[in-house]
Order: sequence, then structure tokens, then C-alpha cells
Amino acid sequence: MDISIVVPLYNEEESLPELEAWIDRVMKEHAFSYELIMIDDGSTDSSWKVVEELSEKNKNIRALKFQRNYGKSAALNVGFEAAQANVVITMDADLQDSPDEVPELYRMIMEEKYDLVSGWKKKRNDPLSKRVPSRVYNYLVRSLTKIKLHDFNCGLKAYRRPVVKSVQVHGDLHRYIPVLAKIAGFKRIGEKVVQHNARKYGVSKFGLGRARGMFDLVTLAFIGRFGRKPMHFFGTLGTLFLFLGVVILIYLSIAKLLYQEYGIADRPLFYFGILTLIVGSQLFLSGFLAEMIVRNNQDNNQYVIEKIVNPTEKNRS
Ligand code: UDP
Ligand code: MG
Repeated sequence: MDISIVVPLYNEEESLPELEAWIDRVMKEHAFSYELIMIDDGSTDSSWKVVEELSEKNKNIRALKFQRNYGKSAALNVGFEAAQANVVITMDADLQDSPDEVPELYRMIMEEKYDLVSGWKKKRNDPLSKRVPSRVYNYLVRSLTKIKLHDFNCGLKAYRRPVVKSVQVHGDLHRYIPVLAKIAGFKRIGEKVVQHNARKYGVSKFGLGRARGMFDLVTLAFIGRFGRKPMHFFGTLGTLFLFLGVVILIYLSIAKLLYQEYGIADRPLFYFGILTLIVGSQLFLSGFLAEMIVRNNQDNNQYVIEKIVNPTEKNRS
């Protein structure tokens, strides 16, 4: 199989038939073998019924429906797990992304050897209230991550298979897949200007709440640096606090002994010393707990093996 197309959808009943027909036409024109993986993210309209009907006539469709709305990231994650082809392409269901871009995206992965190619909605058909925050957001992520993309949040993206098998998208992290890919060690990240259409049917599923996605960037920065060694973060901070506390209390004790100062506890510094000791030991404790969580977490112990010679029985599977 050449291509897996992953489509997360939430209440997109009107768009689906056109989307399926369009994808199928492009795939046939270019003689690609493909699978179309549709993930119904708990739609409350008749999307799932439409998907079932489409899958009757198009046997390339594989689909599943969530019990409730878990969010785009969850849908993508499940789609990534299911994908079988060597090139995986994600696309929104609302016809804003054009299936005509797929062949070129495929070529960039196969021939130009990109790990990930992100669409760039250069001419964007969205309201201004969306375009302006998006610009700011993209600028911020670009400068923080040093990944040279204009449009991180484009739904249309192409991946080499190992990339989707190694990134875990949950919460709202779908906006940061290129960042996750970079953290996982995939450096060849490219960009392609893509056609972007105005939403034809239905409504946008993301409101102003998307601004909260900024917090995810903090999480990512943390995970990227300390995700596998949290003690390096908590331990360093904890040591600083403990050290400060110990110095303060020793100083107070000496002052008391030498100068017969009355009542250490009358000095504000005393309380500050105690406080830093407590904070310091709490930080250490958090560090230990975090280390144990990392140790017990299967996902964190998966490493992406790029190449191998003389594989053992275990590696081969
Ligand atoms: N989507 C989803 N789950 C959600 C929200 C959205 O699967 O909880 C899908 C939606 O059906 C669409 C894609 O994610 O296929 C992008 O959503 P939308 O077009 O509303 O986002 P926008 O283009 O407005 O940024
Ligand atoms: Mg859209």
C-alpha cells in the first residue's frame, strides 16, 4: 500500500461524500493504492451513518467511531496507530484541505526524503479573527522551537511512517506535531504551500479556546528537555532551595551562639529559611515521583530505531 490517509471528523455529515469522492478520484488518477482511515470523533449528527454507507462501496475505507468527543488529537492518535502505509497523510474532513495536494506531498516524502511535510495555508480562507492570532502563534512557536514552518497547525500534513508511530498526540497537542517529531529526532521537516478553501458546510469546531493551546508549548518545552530525566529539573531547583535554607539556618544559629541573640524565631529570616527547606524537599520528592512515573511508563521507554544490522529475534518483530 502506498498511502494511508487519516481523516478526523466531528459532525461533518455534509462534507464526507464529496471528500471521499475527491480522494478516491485523485488516488485513482495517480494509480496509488491507499487506505482511507476515518475517525469519527463522537459525532452527534449522521456522520457515522454516512461513513458506513461510503465504506459499503469504497473498500479502501477503514473507519471507527469514538463513544464521545475526545478531540482532534485523540482521533489523530488512533488513526496513526491504525495506519499501515509507508506514507501517512492527515487531512481535515471539512473540504478546507485539498486532496489534490496528496501526490506532491507523497513525492516530497518519497523522493526528497522528508520525515514530515506540513501544509502551509499561504492564502488562507478563514475569518480575520482566526488569521491574526494564528500569525502570532506561528511566530512564537517558530522562534521557540527553531522549526522553520509558517503554519504549524495545518491539518494537511504528510509523514514518513516511523514519525506517526513514535509521536503521541493527546490533549491539544495536534497543533504541535512538528515539535513532537523534532523531539523524537526527526529533523527533515519541510513545508509545502497548499490550496485552502473556505468551509463549505458546517461550522468550525475550534473557538477562542484554542488560545489556551499556548500552555501546551510550556509542557512541550519541559517534556522535550526533562521528560526522560525529570530529576535534572526538580533536583537542581530542589538543591538550590535546600542550600539556601541550610545557609540561612546555619547563619542564624551562629548568630545566636556568638552574639547571644534572643529568639531566633523573632527574625523573619528564620521563617524564610524554614520555607526554603520545605520547598526544597518538596521539589526533591516531586522529582523522585516523576522519575518513578517515567520508569513505569511504557511509552516513555520506546525508542525509535532508525537502522539496524544483524537484528536479534526481538528486534525483527
Ligand atoms: N475535529 C475533530 N474533533 C474535534 C474537533 C474537530 O475530529 O473535537 C475535526 C473536524 O471535523 C475537522 C478537523 O478536525 O475535520 C478540523 O476542525 P475544524 O475545521 O473545525 O478546524 P478549523 O479549520 O476551524 O481550524
Ligand atoms: Mg476547518
